[in-house]
Amino acid sequence: MSAPQIMQGMTLPDVDVWSERVTVALGQNPSAFAGPGTNTYLVGTGPERLLIDPGEGKDSYLGILEDGMKAAGCERIGAIVLTHGHPDHIGGVRSVLERFGRVPVWKFSYPPFDEGYADLEMIDLADGGSVKTKGATLRAVHTPGHAPDHLCFILEEERSLFSGDNVLGVGTTIIPATSGDLGQYMDSLERLLAENPTAIYPAHGPKIEDAPAKIREYIAHRNEREQQIVVELAKGPRTPMTMVKVIYAAYPENLHAPACQSVTQHLMKLEREGRAQHRGDDLVTATWSPI
Ligand SMILES: [Zn+2]
Repeated sequence: MSAPQIMQGMTLPDVDVWSERVTVALGQNPSAFAGPGTNTYLVGTGPERLLIDPGEGKDSYLGILEDGMKAAGCERIGAIVLTHGHPDHIGGVRSVLERFGRVPVWKFSYPPFDEGYADLEMIDLADGGSVKTKGATLRAVHTPGHAPDHLCFILEEERSLFSGDNVLGVGTTIIPATSGDLGQYMDSLERLLAENPTAIYPAHGPKIEDAPAKIREYIAHRNEREQQIVVELAKGPRTPMTMVKVIYAAYPENLHAPACQSVTQHLMKLEREGRAQHRGDDLVTATWSPI
């Protein structure tokens, strides 16, 4: 068995130019799950660029963003565009607005996540809507699953994809047991595949040059995980963590808790399909058995 592909410990340059329209500045928030940190993107070709996902709000990020603006030939930020409301994506908005002045902030509206950010006066960006600047048109694709408010963006001029947390540069994404939805996530992956994008700019990790191959790999990976869970379930009643200890045996233990969230999502999907049932109120710690 080959070593698992994980983001933990990976490093990337603080600033890098990934295409004539796309410059990345790292959010300075590395972690076991975020890998080198959040990729924050300056997009466009003119003096004014769009900023996708300004990280989680680390003080050291603002200087890195300025370095990124210089590298990109960007004089000002025209708007902030968010993939979703998780803290490592939306958390940096306030400090960027304070430093560079107020600009429109676009996001798929989702009150349970957005109510703590009322002061940002965010503009609702719905499926199919777009945000433009010179040299860049970002078309929003609503892709729930990892998060209910998740948007991916097609950069029309390149037909490339900003995948947010739906597809990562290395490893796979977490589908949270409470706010995520594996069924929606699988539908979102199919939808992204149908867009037939060229490259992927993920929210974490390196650029992916062959987008369709990566999306197919993600779909195959989820199907393989489901099969592994069906096999574990057939051994008799057990908790998601008992299954994680077997299926994720080769992964570092600090990734077992998040993996448990995704395994629980798979079990919830099997339950909806009439193939599993659970006993206990908390789905993550419940005992699951086959039907
Ligand atoms: Zn996220």
